[in-house]
Amino acid sequence: MKYKKLLNKIQSETGLESPQERREILITAMRENERKGNDCLKCSGRCCTYEANSMNMTNLEALEALAFLEDEGLINEELIERLEKSVKEFRLDSMLQIGKGEFYRKSYTCPFFNFPTWGCGFGAKNKPYGCIAFNPRESGQENGGNCNSNLEIQMKRLFFHEDKEREASSLIAEQFKIADDKSSIPMKLLELLNSKVN
Ligand code: SF4
Ligand code: SF4
Repeated sequence: MKYKKLLNKIQSETGLESPQERREILITAMRENERKGNDCLKCSGRCCTYEANSMNMTNLEALEALAFLEDEGLINEELIERLEKSVKEFRLDSMLQIGKGEFYRKSYTCPFFNFPTWGCGFGAKNKPYGCIAFNPRESGQENGGNCNSNLEIQMKRLFFHEDKEREASSLIAEQFKIADDKSSIPMKLLELLNSKVN
């Protein structure tokens, strides 16, 4: 349980709340939206494919994802192959600079879309914050279209957690000897998985 132990250590050093507690406000807003009939049940999942997905994650979100995958027994060769295939297919390892310190966010099909089961492989409680906040704004959509990110709820969440989360991501960068930045889900997970941390 290497990643889980590291996550627990970072949590106790920074005073961070658990991954689930820090996602609660987003999940509640998502469920309220679903209760209004705005769910994703009929959708092809466009926002997780190269058509509309360019999600980035922080070091902390990546460590949380790895702790979850470890719990599920999913850290194996198949996972590494999926991540590497995604990086290669969508050329996620080559950065396109569009301004000072600014890089173009490439779109890609998420390796956790319908893996290991239907929908998002992380489930609502473990996926990146941005994924939880992106929801339909009308019912019965089959290929997205009228969906967006709930920025208000994201700002509220950040208000409570941003400082400690930034500190945690910096500590992870130090410990894993990786950059303290955000990158695509496959790139960031491979960065942590390939680090020599023990
Ligand atoms: S983490 Fe889940 S919700 Fe986010 S892009 Fe990947 S499959 Fe979609
Ligand atoms: S309805 Fe929108 S948010 Fe839901 S899966 Fe489809 S594209 Fe994504």
